[in-house]
Amino acid sequence: MEISGRKALVLGAGRSGVASSRFLSECGAIVALHDKKPIEEWTDESRSLKTSHNVGLISGDVPSWLLDQIDLVVISPGVPTNTIPARYVDRKDGEVIGEVELAYRFMKGRIVGVTGSNGKTTTTTLIGQLLREAGINTQVGGNIGTPLLTLADTSSSDGWTVVELSSFQLETIRDFRANVAICLNVTPNHLDRYESFTDYAAAKHRIFMNQTNEDVAILNADDEITRGWTTGLKANVVLFSVKQELEEGLFLRDRDLICRANGKEKILTTRDRIGIRGLHNVENVLASLAAGLACGASPESMAETIAGFRGVEHRMEFVDEIGGVKFYNDSKATSVDATLKALEALSEDDGKIVLILGGRGKNAPYAPLADLIEKKVRTLVVLGEDAGNITSQLKTHAEITRVNSIREAVTAGLIVASPGDSVLLAPACASFDMFKSFEERGEVFKAEVRKLAEMRSTEVAANGN
Ligand code: ADP
Repeated sequence: MEISGRKALVLGAGRSGVASSRFLSECGAIVALHDKKPIEEWTDESRSLKTSHNVGLISGDVPSWLLDQIDLVVISPGVPTNTIPARYVDRKDGEVIGEVELAYRFMKGRIVGVTGSNGKTTTTTLIGQLLREAGINTQVGGNIGTPLLTLADTSSSDGWTVVELSSFQLETIRDFRANVAICLNVTPNHLDRYESFTDYAAAKHRIFMNQTNEDVAILNADDEITRGWTTGLKANVVLFSVKQELEEGLFLRDRDLICRANGKEKILTTRDRIGIRGLHNVENVLASLAAGLACGASPESMAETIAGFRGVEHRMEFVDEIGGVKFYNDSKATSVDATLKALEALSEDDGKIVLILGGRGKNAPYAPLADLIEKKVRTLVVLGEDAGNITSQLKTHAEITRVNSIREAVTAGLIVASPGDSVLLAPACASFDMFKSFEERGEVFKAEVRKLAEMRSTEVAANGN
């Protein structure tokens, strides 16, 4: 792809937009970076591109005289593809692509692409480790936080890049081809940006669109949508399931994770050797094993890596134990669905659960939580913008304690829990009412838990117990 001399407009001044602007400018393009936010609200990194890379900075509306000159638009994942600059340039036969597509055109080596509504980051991270520890030259990026473009330089023809892909990123690929592509599941999500569930599912399906019969497509046989995709793909399909034994593919039988191919079975590992909790994580492990096998990693090495894998920060992360009460951080559970999975993942050994819920609501009903709350939860500790809503929808199913901060939630959690119980932060809400991100919410939670643990141990020491 020729970049030098092109007039490029990058939409969205976040991490992906900064990477695109820098890359295009270094390749000799004339670059303008646009974001609808006022420039004062941009990050220092994006603003500094003006002096470091001679990038024009535009906020608000893009003037039409400028649009007339542009022949390449690179869209960040957060910017809808129907935004005016994207549509305008598309009409003029200019090229409109996403940062992932741009990166793809400059990348060497082979690619594992991971998409799905839930489990992407966990699976992408695990696959990265499986390959690396099996001695395969591997790098990891994409939606997971490292823009793919920043990995183009370090990619090598004998290596693999494992890429997490959101539906937004998949909307703006053209030639991008994953040698191994995974779709973990498709459940209602981001319906504020898509006209229908079908549109959202279609965006996910694009991960397979440029695959050939030399490639592998890994699909969840238990998911209604992905199961329907098994026919009609050009790639070789590998299915995985935690609910049924498959004639071919990877599945769970009792506690064994089995691969069956050409009529032969092999036990790859067992549930007792998986360090991350919950059946949903067995799905992630099966998908990761399927990818590892497709990339040539040895089953023995993968079993070792899985045994040592403790998951990703802010996803069912064990924080500490205070007076026999365990604290878990699942700040990433920003939807009712993810909170359900978190509740399912804790077993009888975890005692009763004190569940911390609340934040910025997503207009989804909390009622789907009611059954599990009645079975497993001792008390709900609620906070944030949607606390009132949660209380009115769930008050007949559990005792509720209302608090105003994460610190109060941690203290209240410890007070109402009995030894042997677990306190779980899995808020079913976004964090933006009180925090910058779910990561910040999780950090604050962990810091408060650790402070309390320290106070308790000093008290115990002082009392000579
Ligand atoms: P993503 O990157 O797709 O958001 P993560 O790996 O960050 O996924 O996990 C986010 C949350 O989704 C987890 O806290 C967990 O509750 C839930 N989750 C993880 N894997 C799965 C899965 N395979 N199916 C359903 N839910 C899952």
